[in-house]
Amino acid sequence: MEAAVGVCIIAVGDELLEGRTVDTNSRRIQRALGGHAVRTRLVQSVPDQPDAIAAALDQTRAGELVFLCGGLGSTPDDLTREAVATWAGVAVCPDDQALEYVCERFRLRGRPLPSTAALQGRVPAGLKALPNPVGSAPGLVGRLRERWLAMLPGFPLEVDGLLPVVLAELDAKGVLPTARDILVRRCAQVTEMEVVRLCGPLRDAQPDLHWSWWVTDWGVDVRVAATDKAGGLGDLGEALDVALGPLVFNRGTQDLPLVVQERMLQAGHTCGVAESCTAGLIGGALTSHGGSSGFFRGGFLVYADEVKTGLLGVSPATLAVDGAVSEPVVRAMADGCRERLGCTHAIAVSGISGPGGGSPANPVGTTWMAVSSQDAGGPTTWAHAYRFPADRERNRLLTVAAALDTLRRVQEFGADRDPWLLPLAWPAGP
Ligand code: AMP
Ligand code: MG
Repeated sequence: MEAAVGVCIIAVGDELLEGRTVDTNSRRIQRALGGHAVRTRLVQSVPDQPDAIAAALDQTRAGELVFLCGGLGSTPDDLTREAVATWAGVAVCPDDQALEYVCERFRLRGRPLPSTAALQGRVPAGLKALPNPVGSAPGLVGRLRERWLAMLPGFPLEVDGLLPVVLAELDAKGVLPTARDILVRRCAQVTEMEVVRLCGPLRDAQPDLHWSWWVTDWGVDVRVAATDKAGGLGDLGEALDVALGPLVFNRGTQDLPLVVQERMLQAGHTCGVAESCTAGLIGGALTSHGGSSGFFRGGFLVYADEVKTGLLGVSPATLAVDGAVSEPVVRAMADGCRERLGCTHAIAVSGISGPGGGSPANPVGTTWMAVSSQDAGGPTTWAHAYRFPADRERNRLLTVAAALDTLRRVQEFGADRDPWLLPLAWPAGP
């Protein structure tokens, strides 16, 4: 295993410091580097000011790989090229190859070359222009002041398009060491504290590995990387699987919607939703990947009692006696949804997202969920009450993640097992 290269990322743009744009490019760059032996040491957002860009560059070290993104356009606020050149003590020169790439983009778009195009054909001496498959500004890569610099425009789509080109160039120059051993376990319906606790004994046994945990849209990810000191990962993957058990929904980069989709498609199963506190967010998440219509049959957004009755056949008496946020109601919603859509699985939710609507018996965050399945053994319906701990927005997102993970569990462990008897993070409701 080769030693990790230090990486610095400098995101340039006034908008990043004023809360108008969130820096997502750093994440794109880090993800693209994921398979390589790199260690990000610095991520910084700086305004479109040469002094600020130079100050950020001063914080990078010889031998590091430095990414700059933003400010390669042709408007007066795009100053990154000039700032880098001044910092490195080189000139910005017209570059035939760069200009050719710019012209080619305008030709492909069928648009006349604007008078500002020549600006994007200028390159700090010592850097090489690379073709941008999405936009007009070429990427720039090369070695200045003992660092490898890679410059990209700011538009996220262009960053995504250019990154493979830039990384291929860096790879060809031998800048990117080969991938180190990395293990990822993506978990759902669990808190970060709990994942850390479950990993505790394994971590204590191998403290020199690099362990990290973080909260995602779907739960919590744990990542373990080999280090120069600790060496390889050995059979840690199997040990992690034992420790985390059914919490793990993926061992790579797939998100929960994709995992559910692949399982449903493989099994030839179909799915529907009946949503009373998420108004389509669960259906939206289930259909976030292409090909979802192969398993997703549709859904119902049922808020008013009469709508629950009219569309799903929930009995008015049950609604009157038990209330809309109750076990009998979500069970009836899930069964009604599955029968009406003719799908093998239906998930139903009814909850109090907040901020209002809570009561001592059913506080904000109380969310009933039911999953109704039809397989060879006949129909089964399971229900569970969550008590999510957050505000409206987050409670709804937690509901979506829990619903998708429940469908994943039913697929993985069989519809005849209560998906909520497996370990769960959130305290049960009433
Ligand atoms: P620029 O290449 O600097 O002209 O940036 C073009 C646009 O890309 C900006 O107006 C922002 O909307 C967006 N952008 C720039 N930097 C970032 C970043 N770090 N993350 C996400 N979006 C960005
Ligand atoms: Mg900009």
